[in-house]
Amino acid sequence: MATFLWDDIVFGPIHSRRVGRSLGINLLPRDAKVCTFDCVYCECGGLLRGAEKHPLPTLKQVRDAIEGRFASLSAEGAGIDSISFTGNGEPTLHPDFAEIIDITLAARDRWLKQAVVSVFTNATRLDRPPIVEALKKVDNPILKIDCALDGMAAVMNRPRKGYSVKAVVENMKAFGGNFVLQTMLVKGPVVDNSTPEALRAWYDVVRKLHPREIMLYSVSRDTPVAGIERLGAEELAAAAAPLVAEGFNIQINA
Ligand code: SF4
Repeated sequence: MATFLWDDIVFGPIHSRRVGRSLGINLLPRDAKVCTFDCVYCECGGLLRGAEKHPLPTLKQVRDAIEGRFASLSAEGAGIDSISFTGNGEPTLHPDFAEIIDITLAARDRWLKQAVVSVFTNATRLDRPPIVEALKKVDNPILKIDCALDGMAAVMNRPRKGYSVKAVVENMKAFGGNFVLQTMLVKGPVVDNSTPEALRAWYDVVRKLHPREIMLYSVSRDTPVAGIERLGAEELAAAAAPLVAEGFNIQINA
């Protein structure tokens, strides 16, 4: 099983199947995943015991890394489509997340004007108003709901504690639909969130939230838990079809 941790605060550019030529920003430790979830499909691998004790980069380290790298990429004339907060876990866990968003937007406007700023988040911290306000400032707040059924989310996302889809949906309403919903579909003996029952519940969530775009995707690398199976393009398209027919904008990444 090959899983993967990013070494740098600013990494890439890499080609992302979801956002194009992308510069990544990792606000988590270099040597451990830190997240409020421990998804069975996570490319960073499983959570380590005591991972939360690994130091996060300081605000100064993050500022220096962002400003230094953006300035050098600008001088090289590098074309960057997206600056994406992703990396070794949940970016909103960084205590200076809101300030880092402001630093990033200012640096983008100065050196990489053409790039959009995206944040991939599992949406578990939307109960904190400063995090919602920070996410509203970026071009693409990309918020995760994989399973609309709590019992299935418990198996697939393995949340740290107290996860409720209903509460997350309520928190997401603060965006008024101006966000991107990201949903991973998998099948197999461990968990299958592509069943008709699971999809019906997910459709209802989508109809309540009306996201401006939906990213529907499946696993593309090895997973830390065995028995997680990938859905192909046709299966993803079939899952999306009822919502496409209703006019939702769905991007399928097989
Ligand atoms: S939310 Fe993302 S980083 Fe966290 S465990 Fe799931 S896939 Fe990994």
